[in-house]
Amino acid sequence: MLATTNPTAYRGRFAPSPTGPLHFGSLVAALASALEARANRGQWLLRMEDVDAPRCSKIAADEILRTLEVFGFKWDGALVWQSRRTAAYAAALEQLRGGADVFPCACTRRELADAEIHGLAIDGASVYPGTCRNGLAPGKSARAWRLAVGDAQISFSDTIQGRINSLLSKDVGDFVLLRADNIFAYQLAVVIDDAAAGITHVVRGADLLHSTARQIFLQQKLALPTPEYAHVPVAVNAAGEKLSKQTGATALDTRNAATELVAALQLLGQSPPAELRRASVAEIWQWASVHWALASVPRVMAQNFKPI
Ligand code: GLU
Repeated sequence: MLATTNPTAYRGRFAPSPTGPLHFGSLVAALASALEARANRGQWLLRMEDVDAPRCSKIAADEILRTLEVFGFKWDGALVWQSRRTAAYAAALEQLRGGADVFPCACTRRELADAEIHGLAIDGASVYPGTCRNGLAPGKSARAWRLAVGDAQISFSDTIQGRINSLLSKDVGDFVLLRADNIFAYQLAVVIDDAAAGITHVVRGADLLHSTARQIFLQQKLALPTPEYAHVPVAVNAAGEKLSKQTGATALDTRNAATELVAALQLLGQSPPAELRRASVAEIWQWASVHWALASVPRVMAQNFKPI
């Protein structure tokens, strides 16, 4: 008998950007997405988000892969490299251009900052003031390409964070699809890649929560399905800053995989027993697979969080 594919089968993913080594915050997101896929007897895919080539390196990508292996991650299927998928992003941009909501923009970062009458967007950049929406001023030439958001309101229910509503014109404004340096924007690449991979569930760090409305808007424009979203708490340092390369988060220590895995489980509200820190990586995965409960994941990292 022919095997039939189950259209509702769970497909999750982890999508690191190889701009540096994995840190504890990335481990939390990787672990949550992998365990949730496993709990749903689904597939867990890996995608290297190296579309922003100048900020990425093959060395960082190789190091990420090695770290994931040492930490006991096993992904399904072939690893996807965004840098090899630009034709798909170009095709999507062409499709959107046909809909007339995409427009060239001549504004420099400086000009946008100076025109900051609309306040800051949720991601810290300026809300686009609409300068080039109705055509480029004489003598100006296109730098980036943007998607007009009109009065779109996006509302979705995040499995961990609850109901999220976004009025895109207020939260971000018309956003970039193709950057001035001719690199496709993360928002476009991630939407095309999640759809191409048939991702049904996105489990990732809550630092990306504010990107989700833009991604759903793009899915609607391109008639692509919207996955379920679950944004796990972001790990912060003692100063309350998100752990990231920018805040100097230290790389995961591959000699200490057990301790780091147990701490990540703990941050995810899973109450691992202290003796698990002395267990092997395989034993930790075994424990986590049996005990994993997405419902126990807190919305934000506990203030008194201290690894056991
Ligand atoms: N590449 C993104 C990051 O490393 C994650 C993208 C995603 O999970 O949607 O922050």
